[in-house]
Amino acid sequence: MAIAEGIEQDRWTRVKGRLRSTVGEDVYSSWFARMDLERVGGESVHLSVPTRFLKSWIQTHYADRVLSCWQSELPEVSRVDLTVRTPIRAPAVTKDAKASVEERLSEQEHRPSELRAVATVPVSASHEALGGSPLDPRLTFATFVGGRSNTLALAAARQVAEGRRGDNVMFNPLYIHAGVGLGKTHLLQAVTWAGNSADRKVLYLTAEKFMYGFVAALKTQTALAFKEALRGIDVLVIDDLQFLQGKSTQAEFCHTLNALIDAGRQVVIAADRPPSDLESLDDRVRSRLAGGLVVEMGALGEELRLEILKSRVSAARTHHASFDVPLPVLDYLAKAITHNGRDLEGAINRLLAHSKLNSTPVTLEMAEREVRDLIRPQEPRRVKIEDIQRVVARQYNVSRSDLLSSRRTANVVRPRQVAMYLAKTLTLRSLPEIGRRFGGRDHTTVLHAVRKIESLVSKDVALSDEVELLKRQLQE
Ligand code: ADP
Ligand code: MG
Repeated sequence: MAIAEGIEQDRWTRVKGRLRSTVGEDVYSSWFARMDLERVGGESVHLSVPTRFLKSWIQTHYADRVLSCWQSELPEVSRVDLTVRTPIRAPAVTKDAKASVEERLSEQEHRPSELRAVATVPVSASHEALGGSPLDPRLTFATFVGGRSNTLALAAARQVAEGRRGDNVMFNPLYIHAGVGLGKTHLLQAVTWAGNSADRKVLYLTAEKFMYGFVAALKTQTALAFKEALRGIDVLVIDDLQFLQGKSTQAEFCHTLNALIDAGRQVVIAADRPPSDLESLDDRVRSRLAGGLVVEMGALGEELRLEILKSRVSAARTHHASFDVPLPVLDYLAKAITHNGRDLEGAINRLLAHSKLNSTPVTLEMAEREVRDLIRPQEPRRVKIEDIQRVVARQYNVSRSDLLSSRRTANVVRPRQVAMYLAKTLTLRSLPEIGRRFGGRDHTTVLHAVRKIESLVSKDVALSDEVELLKRQLQE
């Protein structure tokens, strides 16, 4: 039994690995990170996700890919069933946290006020539609490790969490951005846990939940109630803003943001990029977002990784007293797993599973074997358009404003084209976005520049070397 389960789990891990490499890390962590294997039975595989939104999103956008990833592991699989797990309510950890966001919202649902319309639809659906996203009880300030890369973000988050109703809001919105797995969700949930008190409501929503809540509320004609519910809170925390899609959702987001900020309520946002790079949002929203405090969290340094690993181990030890990871193994993991916090957590989970299943202590050799696939070649650094402009300008001895200007003299045209080419090849930004960041140029101009440099590089060795050098400077 346990062995069969182990095989299934291994297979599931491999399927997830395939999925991750077909859809990419960002998409994977947004839609699939919380997908679990329930069971494999004959030709069908049963998977579960925590929300109906995730279920329908995955079904409409990724069903085929999930199936084919399974088929590469188990050719006989012909069907993937996706169900919604019943949510486990986060345990009440402290007195303050007890009146959790979810409970507050379900209280509201039963209030005989403007929310009554919602209470007529099934409670679970309306709860989901209006409620906050599930909170993970482990993601608190107590478990968040501070380090060089997150000092400012952590200080700002604490400040927000410690605020009282009616306090002057110091920076609004607080906008935190960082790559995948660098602690955004952890920090936002910490604010939510710590900031909630008897007279202060903090609501944590993923952008997906915001979209889903809004769309569902519109369908049941309670958009007004939804708006009221949102506006009745003290701190709105929105995670993964880059996924906010759709014109009406964005318009609604914009209204909500303005209403909250104008009323002196705090808004906290996390996204994987700075406001200026949120392509799908219109300029007014972008500038409103940039008008508060924008903080970036950098990559986790080795020391920080080591501390995170230690804290994970000690958390695991509260349930598994016999589990221990010797310091040399921790050192090894901190050095080898450089990408993100999720893989650090994954590594500890595997060591725990392995040492439990086999009743063996953790050794360096075992760790090397177990985490091999988590050690990926150094991911290219996130390159920013500003950096490209700065480095190119320096290289060609022009100013950054020359690059953005409409001047058409040869000494700026070529560097500008090189910079646009680098922006297209080193970032995920679209052509229109790049055009916008280069002094509001049209996307066809960017396309022309990209093609031009592509063709020159294949013929002109000197230029090709120059471009390579620039790439290297930007990526190291
Ligand atoms: P993001 O939302 O930025 O993608 P998460 O907040 O989900 O990243 O973090 C991924 C994992 O790494 C989580 O398990 C989180 O607890 C852990 N982690 C990241 N940064 C830290 C930190 N500074 N201290 C403790 N754990 C961290
Ligand atoms: Mg996150």
